[in-house]
Amino acid sequence: MTDMHFRTVAAVSTPRGKGGIAVIRISGDDAFRVADRMFSPASGKALSDCGTRRAVFGTILDARDEPVDTGLAVLFRGPASFTGEDVAEISCHGGPAATEAVLLSALAHGADAAGPGEFTRRAFLNGKLSLTEAEAVGRLIDADTEERLALSAGGLRGNVSRRIGEISAGMLTTMTALYAAIDYPEEDVGDEGEREIGNTLRRSLEEVRALLSTYRVGRAVADGVKTVVCGRPNVGKSSLFNLMTGEESAIVTDIAGTTRDILRETVSFGGVTLRLADTAGLRGDTDGRVEEIGVNRARREIGEAELILAVFDGSEHLTKEDGELLDLLESTKGDAVILAVVNKSDRGIALTGEELGRIDGVCGSGRRIVMSAASEKGDALAQAVRTAFRAGELDLRRDAVIWDVRQRQALEHARSALEAAVEAVEAGDPVDCVCTLAEEAMAALDETDGRSVDQGIVDEIFKRFCVGK
Ligand code: GDP
Repeated sequence: MTDMHFRTVAAVSTPRGKGGIAVIRISGDDAFRVADRMFSPASGKALSDCGTRRAVFGTILDARDEPVDTGLAVLFRGPASFTGEDVAEISCHGGPAATEAVLLSALAHGADAAGPGEFTRRAFLNGKLSLTEAEAVGRLIDADTEERLALSAGGLRGNVSRRIGEISAGMLTTMTALYAAIDYPEEDVGDEGEREIGNTLRRSLEEVRALLSTYRVGRAVADGVKTVVCGRPNVGKSSLFNLMTGEESAIVTDIAGTTRDILRETVSFGGVTLRLADTAGLRGDTDGRVEEIGVNRARREIGEAELILAVFDGSEHLTKEDGELLDLLESTKGDAVILAVVNKSDRGIALTGEELGRIDGVCGSGRRIVMSAASEKGDALAQAVRTAFRAGELDLRRDAVIWDVRQRQALEHARSALEAAVEAVEAGDPVDCVCTLAEEAMAALDETDGRSVDQGIVDEIFKRFCVGK
């Protein structure tokens, strides 16, 4: 793929707005020529005569060849560049007008405007990055929490690609044995050979299953867990919300039913990312219209949530409303993790064993946290979240962790093909049948890492990037 010829493109690779500097990146066969036309080194030499991978100081010319700024230019000769093509990076002062003028100059001097994610896409097409690594670049740029940074940095360092490569390499020996058996049917593979093929396929299946199982935590970090904090008015939802966000973002008040709208916040909590919605108090009897909308929305939020924090006031007996919330949770229980927060423990626990048992019946054993949102940091709750999403079991920086639905789909395809292949071996099916299924699994593994992937999928992935990446 390295010999593909692309247009030469340019874009601003630093964020919009004012900054100390901005970087305009130009990539493609003509990148050096474009840079030569718009950059005049202080030394008087042509930029392309100043060597590559060296910062060269000079004057930047605008679209009409008038000096517009001074700055640095660095040339990278492909394939030793980010995109694998010839690349010129020009740094100018980071004002919006200066940046725009330098970009327009690049366009006037022979470059086309780069599309979203075009530099990373070229890096992928030129074999500089695997697809999971390219996806990690996007995530790395977007990373706003420590866990997200660890996950994307691990992906970019090739943790997932390497693991997939290892699984494929393991399968390759089986493929060789299978092809030999097909090509020379007169030479019987023998029981030993068949056992070996079965074992390798089973091992690959286990490896694929193990990698797939990392999706739960990968996704919980990368996309975040849709979380709802619910409970009747005054149990301490807002206090809990504030404790988790670390800000006074929800209004805490003594008057029942005042948190009417749904507040949202994304927080790093318990080793994963929670997308928090704090709902209005859930009430069976609604009086005002505003309150009613809030409650209906709260019900919908509960239906769509992946993590439900059901808050109860531990210093009082369960009320009718608490009972209704428990009924609602019971009836909407799907895949969502329900954690029961028995709050206000500083006032002493008034809930009876029977009442606590009722709560446990809905959220499951070991998922009840007795705490005080008013006087604690929430460590027990964080630990419960960590356990529920298995966040402590993997090292996001070092282990292969998948986080993208596309990666999961491709791996699931590999898993089902491998399952069928193992079944075929166990049933003593003809060798070519086993071989077809193993080939299908290999192709799905390749697809996971983008070694053979549909153009439409590639387009879809890079569309999510912004211009300049
Ligand atoms: P919400 O209506 O469920 O959002 O409840 P709030 O967070 O507004 O809390 C209602 C009242 O309970 C406020 O006066 C809080 O200060 C108080 N509160 C919340 N959590 C605790 C707690 O753990 N202990 C005590 N003693 N009071 C609390």
